[in-house]
Parts: sequence; C-alpha cells; structure tokens
Amino acid sequence: MIQLASRLNGVAASASAEISLAVRSLRAQGKEIIDLGIGQPDFDTPPHIVDAAHKAALDGQTRYPPTVGTIALREAVSAKFQRENHLSYGIDQILIANGAKQVLFNGLMATLEPGDEVLLCAPYFDSYASIVRVLGGIPVKLDIREEDGFVLQPNDLERAITSKTRWLLLNSPGNPTGAVYSANNYRDLVPVLENSPKIWVMSDEIYEHIIFDGVRHDSFAAACPELKERTLTVNGASKAYAMTGWRIGYGAGPRSLIKAMMVVQSQITSGACSIAQAATVAALEGPQDFVNDARAAYQVRRDLVFEGVNRVTGISLRKPAGAFYALINVGNLPFQTSGDAAKFFLEKAGVAGVPGHVYGLEPFFRLSLAAADKKLEVGLEKMKYALESYL
Ligand code: PLP
Repeated sequence: MIQLASRLNGVAASASAEISLAVRSLRAQGKEIIDLGIGQPDFDTPPHIVDAAHKAALDGQTRYPPTVGTIALREAVSAKFQRENHLSYGIDQILIANGAKQVLFNGLMATLEPGDEVLLCAPYFDSYASIVRVLGGIPVKLDIREEDGFVLQPNDLERAITSKTRWLLLNSPGNPTGAVYSANNYRDLVPVLENSPKIWVMSDEIYEHIIFDGVRHDSFAAACPELKERTLTVNGASKAYAMTGWRIGYGAGPRSLIKAMMVVQSQITSGACSIAQAATVAALEGPQDFVNDARAAYQVRRDLVFEGVNRVTGISLRKPAGAFYALINVGNLPFQTSGDAAKFFLEKAGVAGVPGHVYGLEPFFRLSLAAADKKLEVGLEKMKYALESYL
C-alpha cells in the first residue's frame, strides 16, 4: 500500500462527488433518484461562447498561454470589474486560473504558514476548509446564525481573531446559505478588520449574477475601499455563464499577492486552457441576455422551492436571496444528524441533497435549485410524502 502524505489527513474528496456516487449506485439498482446534490447550472453554455472557443482553436490559439492569463482575458476582466463592480484593477493585478477554486488555492498556498488560521463563516463552501487543511493551515469555524440571515456579525468576528489569524473568507451570494451581504453588512466589519491589520480578506463572489428580487450585488473591495489593499476578490465564469466545465476563474488583488499566486500556478498547471480563456473573453464582452434569463429562471425555482418546503411539516427554509441553493432546516425532524436526514430523503423519497455537516453546520439539508422546475416540484412532493408516512 502506498503511504499517503499526512497533509491529506482529514481531507476527503468533495462531498458532491460522493453523493453522485451514491446516486449512481441506487440508480444501478433500478431506483428512480432526483439528484439535487450537485451545484452547477443545468443550462448549456451560450452558443456565442462556444463559437469563440471554436474560432480560437482554429486560429491557432493552441500553445501555452501566459501563466498569469492571456492579455485579452485580463483586459476583459479588468473592464468587467470597472463596469459591474466599480473596482479599478490593472491587468497586472489580475490572475486567470483553472476555476475560482484554483484562485482560492493559489492565494492560500502563497500566503499560509503551517498553523495559520483562516476564518470561515459556517455554513461554508466545503472546499474552503479542505484547501486550508491541505496547506497546513487551520480552518476556524465561525457559526453564523440563521436568525441573522446567515450574515457574519462584527462581534463574532472579533471574538474569533487570534494572533494566528491570516485570512477571513467571505462568500456572497453564499453557497450554501443563499445569503447576500449588503454594502452595510460589509462596512460593519471594517472597524474590527482595521484593528487587525494582519488579516486579509478573500471575497468569493462567484455567484454575483445569481441574485434575486432586483437586489444589487455589492463587491467587498468596493464597499470597503480602505481594505482593498488587503483583499483578494475571487470570481469566475462557471456559474454566471454555465461554464463549469471550462474551468476559468479569476482573482484580483494587490500586485505582490497576484505575482506570488502566479508563481504557485506556474508550478501546478502552467496556467488555464487558452481556448477556454478565449471563450471567457466572449462571455464577458458579448451579450449578457443569458445571465439575465438564467437569473430569472433561478428566481422562479427559488420561489417554487421556498413555497414548497414551507408547506411540508417539520422542515423550513429561509428565503435565499441569491445563489442557487435551498438550505433547508431539518432541526425539527427526529433525526440525530443532518447525515441521517439526507440518508432518509435519499432512500425513502429518492431525493439526493447534501447534509449540512459537509458545510460545517447542523441541522441543514441543501438542495440545488439548478434543476428543471418539474424535477424540483416532484422532488418536494416525494419529500413531503416520505415525511408524512414516517412522522
Ligand atoms: N466558490 C464557491 C462558493 C462555489 O460554490 C464554487 C463551486 O461550487 C466555487 C467557488 C468553485 O468555482 P469554480 O468552478 O470556478 O472552480
């Protein structure tokens, strides 16, 4: 047996991959399963973006691109930040990577020393904790309360800070909470962060376009310009343009950090796929109808699931303001853990979702809204029926 590195202790493959495996195995036994586990748009990438990739390949954009990203894409990202987020980043402050996940990884790898602490607002995107652990850091969980709208409160932040704290990770619109921070929510954190000049902020804004009820997305660095010099803004093409498979993410921040992240990237992947980068230029610079249509479709599903869940006795849902997840509170059900609840819904209702412990907080069960309306309706009906037969 090969001896594995201790840095992998306590780190598992992503939870959604395991859930997909369970779904496949149940389907192989002939069971009908509605899979609402995975968090990715169910739409196809818009054709003009695919055309741009085709053209780039035919035009010979097939060699190693610059490690930090093509000039064309960094210019398009810089213009996007200015246009949509009122943020000025020069192209030497921008790095293109293989998905937002690699941006997060590069940023943490470039800065964490063993034992450094990274503050995560639980429930959080599960990869945050795993990446910190792989890099020898310590993920420190801040439990965020549902009654606070899953928004970090300054007192809770202040209490968690130690001399070892290096980063605060923020994610709005949030996976799995659906919470959206206003500029004021961000500004409430400023006095605490100004008192702790060693702490940097990583603001993951990958769901910025999936935001409901006409609410505007606020970028952390734009809301808190005094902290822009110690902020890494993370975003990407995956969720906004239904491009999860193209693997393009981008990060923007101070030049010294971006340069260090580029060094990390040059030794891991040599950069992101040249053809996917050309496609992302078309995504950012082309028509934005897809983004608006997808947002409207997710909002219809959000409403459908919100009403559906709250009709079922024993479970409840706080209305998600953004992203495409429903984080259902299962605390009133007679299960010990959210894992037991998820197992029940999978086996008795044929609905796959993700238990809250994966995101660091009980008692929740996450369903993805990135599925056809009919699937969501039938899934909720099945959950209702299974619960009524059980309770
Ligand atoms: N950040 C959050 C909050 C996510 O939910 C995800 C994917 O689920 C990512 C980052 C990863 O994005 P990408 O596909 O660009 O790596």
